[in-house]
Amino acid sequence: MHRTLLYGAQVVNSASTQTADVLIENGRVVAVGELAAIVGENCERIDVRGKLLVPGGVDVHTHLESPLNGAPTADDFESGTIAAACGGTTTIVDFAAQVKGQTLLDALAVHHDKARGRAVIDYGFHMCVTDLVSGKLAEFAEVVQSGVSSFKVFMAYRGTLMVNDGELFDVLRTAGRLGGQVCVHAENGDVIDRLASDLVAEGRTGPKSHLLSRPPETEVEAVVRAIAIADMADAPIYFVHLSTQGSVEAVAEARHRNASVAGETCTHYLTLDPSLYDQPGFKAGEVVLTPPLREKVHRDALWRGLTTGDVSVVSSDHCPYCLAEKERLGAHDFREIPNGGPGIEHRMSLLYGEGVRGGRISLEKYVELTAAAPAKQFGLYPKKGVIAAGSDADIVVLDPAGETVISAATQNQRLDYTPYEGWVLPGRIEQVFSRGDLIAASGTYVGARGRGNYLPRATV
Ligand SMILES: [Zn+2]
Repeated sequence: MHRTLLYGAQVVNSASTQTADVLIENGRVVAVGELAAIVGENCERIDVRGKLLVPGGVDVHTHLESPLNGAPTADDFESGTIAAACGGTTTIVDFAAQVKGQTLLDALAVHHDKARGRAVIDYGFHMCVTDLVSGKLAEFAEVVQSGVSSFKVFMAYRGTLMVNDGELFDVLRTAGRLGGQVCVHAENGDVIDRLASDLVAEGRTGPKSHLLSRPPETEVEAVVRAIAIADMADAPIYFVHLSTQGSVEAVAEARHRNASVAGETCTHYLTLDPSLYDQPGFKAGEVVLTPPLREKVHRDALWRGLTTGDVSVVSSDHCPYCLAEKERLGAHDFREIPNGGPGIEHRMSLLYGEGVRGGRISLEKYVELTAAAPAKQFGLYPKKGVIAAGSDADIVVLDPAGETVISAATQNQRLDYTPYEGWVLPGRIEQVFSRGDLIAASGTYVGARGRGNYLPRATV
C-alpha cells in the first residue's frame, strides 16, 4: 500500500479553506486534518507548508483531435492532456464529434480509440450531435447508458454543424427525458452567414471580419431563443462559452424563475481584449475563435456573473490550430479560418492570477469555478472537484509566492503561438497529483504515458 502525506498547506475547497494535512492512500484521499503526528513511519511525507492545495482542475470543454472544423485540432489526447496536467487540470470532458452520416455510437467508438492508452489524465465525453437524419435520436439512450450523459448542439454553422430549432427541440426533449443534459453553442448562424458574406463582398476578407460578422446580439438572440425552446421541451439547458452581457442577463432572468439553465464562460472571454483583432498581417488570426473576444463591458458582466452564480463554470474551449495552419486555410477568406484557440494549459493559472489575485473572486470561488461546479454539473462530483475523504487524490500544489510566465516557447500545448505571450501572472502551479501519482512538476510532465482512465458519467 502506497501512502503519501501532504502536510502543512492551506487546503482550499469550494466551501472552505483550512490549514491541514492530506493523507493519500492508493490514489484516494483518506483523511484531511491534523494528521502529521498520527500517521506512522510507513508513509511518504511531502512538505507543502506555505502552499495552497486545490482540487485538480476539471475542464469540461475541450476539443482534442477533433475533426469538426475542416482540419484536425493540433493537440491529440496525449499532447493535450499533458498540457492540461502541467497546467493543473486533472480531468477533462471532451467533445466526441459526430461527422455527417456517422451514427452516434460509431462516433463515440472512434473517439474512445483516440483517447484510450494516450490520455494521461482522466477523461469523459460529451456527445456532439451534428446529423440527426434517420433515427439518431433513438441512439440517445444507448449513448447515456455508456456514460455519456450530455449532448452538444450548434445553433451556428449552417450546412455543417448547425441544427434547426425543431432539431434543437428534439435533442433537448429526448436528452431531458433520459435525465441527460444538452450543451448549446448559441449563435444566430444565419444572420452571421449574411453579415460574413457582406464583408467578403466588400473585400474585407481578413481575420478582423470574424469579429465584425459576430456582433454580441447574434449570441444574445440565440440564448434567449434556446431558453424558450428548452422551456417548451421541459428540459435543462447548459450554454457553452457565453461571451456577452446580454447572455448573462438572459440566463440570470431564467434562473430567477427557477428554470434549469446554466452558463459557462471561458478564460479568454474574461481576459483578452478585441484589440487583438487589430494586430498586423495575419497575426489576428490567432484569436479567430468563436464567439469572438468582446469589449470590456462584456468582460465585466461575465466576472459579475461568476460572482452571482449566473455563470457557473469557467472552461477552456481548448480548440487549437497552429497559426500557420489557420493562415494556410484562411488567408484569402476569414470564413475558412478554422475557429478556435488554446486554453487547456493556462486556464487554472489565468483564473488564479486574474481572478483571485486580481481581487475579482475568492479562493473558494476559484475552486468552485474550475473544479467543483463543472464536476457537479456533469456527474463527476465528489469523485472529482473536491479534496475530501473518499475523493480521487487529484490535487494541485499552488505556490502563491511564485509566478507564471506564459510563452509559446515553453508551453506544452502543441502550438506555434499563445495569445497570452509574455504574460506574467502571480502564483505558480508547482506539483500536480492525479489519483495520488505525481504527474507534473514545475510545468513538466513527469507521469507515465497513457495513464488516464475513461470516466463514465451518471445523469444528474
Ligand atoms: Zn468548443
